[in-house]
Amino acid sequence: MPRPSPLEVYAVLDKSNCKECGYDTCMAFATDILERKVSVRDCTHLSLPKQAKNRDKLIKLITPPQKPVVIGTGERAVTIGGEEVLMRHQLTFYNQTAIFIEIADDDADLEETIKYLTDIKLERIGDVLTLDGIALRNVSGDKEQFKLAANKIGEVSNLPIMLCTFNTDNLLYAAEAIKSKKPLLYAATKDSWEQLGTFAVKNNLPVAVFSNDLDELMSVSATLQKLGVKEIVLDSGSFFGPGNLSVTYDNIMQLRSAAIDKEDVNAGWPVMGVPAVYWSQVKIGEDKELWEHKFQEIIMGAIMESIGTSLIILHTGQKKEDIWALLALMTLRQSVFSDPRIYPAVDAGLYKVGEPGEMDPIFVTSNYRMTKIPVEQDLQGANLNCWLLVVDTEGIGIESAVAGGQFNAGGIAEAVKEFNVFDNVKHRVLVIPGMAARLSGALEDEADAFVVVGPRDSSGILKFMESQWKPDEFMKEYESWEK
Ligand code: SF4
Repeated sequence: MPRPSPLEVYAVLDKSNCKECGYDTCMAFATDILERKVSVRDCTHLSLPKQAKNRDKLIKLITPPQKPVVIGTGERAVTIGGEEVLMRHQLTFYNQTAIFIEIADDDADLEETIKYLTDIKLERIGDVLTLDGIALRNVSGDKEQFKLAANKIGEVSNLPIMLCTFNTDNLLYAAEAIKSKKPLLYAATKDSWEQLGTFAVKNNLPVAVFSNDLDELMSVSATLQKLGVKEIVLDSGSFFGPGNLSVTYDNIMQLRSAAIDKEDVNAGWPVMGVPAVYWSQVKIGEDKELWEHKFQEIIMGAIMESIGTSLIILHTGQKKEDIWALLALMTLRQSVFSDPRIYPAVDAGLYKVGEPGEMDPIFVTSNYRMTKIPVEQDLQGANLNCWLLVVDTEGIGIESAVAGGQFNAGGIAEAVKEFNVFDNVKHRVLVIPGMAARLSGALEDEADAFVVVGPRDSSGILKFMESQWKPDEFMKEYESWEK
């Protein structure tokens, strides 16, 4: 089914333009509900009993073919799936691969490990990257131990929890204790679906279904839906070894394709993968060093991310010495799931680097995120005190924006005025990027400034400062023109 248009959504709203949702018009609301910036609940009129039919129509219209599933509660609850397209370039992906790290319920350092995973924060190009959850495994086989560990995670962490065991009694015993945290129950099989599904319906919890036979997987999914389970995650198994890898990836793609392209309601759920199974499927240490085994697991994680898997569970990454693994996977994920329709931009404005004074330089750059942040980091790395004027180039980098006209003398001069740039200094010198050298003459006229052409690449800024930054001389020259 093609994506609904804003007009189709508008048709089921009551068109009163009452503004109670914060939008001036129902049409504006219709446009943003398709972008998931608002939800059906935000239209106050649709919650009226007489609007129930329209509310149901709207929910049906905007529900993606792969339904979303929410795990956890509160500010770190994570939404997985909910995609409308198979490939990102066809529209965008809305929910990135959630990364869960497994912990054994008999881990001697349980509390320390939970706290470490909860607090991991990596900053990359202005984004703060974090983990999405903890997959607790009932390695002890003991239900009390499993419950204790689940409670401990709930006590010391706000990360979503996935409870993992094929022993349904143990699973439900621990789930009962932390059901208010909305854990994901792993896993229902052809043998355990009824017991697990009944508990999930009663407590409104999401359920993962496991089978390496796709027909069986679809059958359990259908049965759980009939039972009333509202959120399902599909696991067709992750397998290492010759021939197994391609089957693993192929199954994930088949499920995604069945959901999105064929709109098969039984497949229309998030799909998960478990690179952590590496450690139970391969004989460790026989032909490889430990780090080489870790690499194998992380490579599977990377491939799963790249084919749009909704959730992955890792073993490597649990300990501080394995931070490299998370760094790699979270950075890759950041790239794979960025919205191709939006140039990554930052706000235009005048930024301080260090403690700039009245005779410190003003560097000019674009508001393309991948330009502004590296330039700022180079300035900080060079220990400079300076000003950074970020001009709105519609999120386009310097070279393309100069060619396309978004970075031009008039626009820079306007930014100089808008942000009162020269009120902060006792000079009128602007340093523009080397790639924008051709703008210098026009900019001097438009901004009434002395323009210095800086390096082509911001990594050369320190050298530029040492050899070319002479504000007094520049100002003498500027003043001589004024006369
Ligand atoms: S609350 Fe509903 S009816 Fe009112 S403007 Fe928003 S979308 Fe329209």
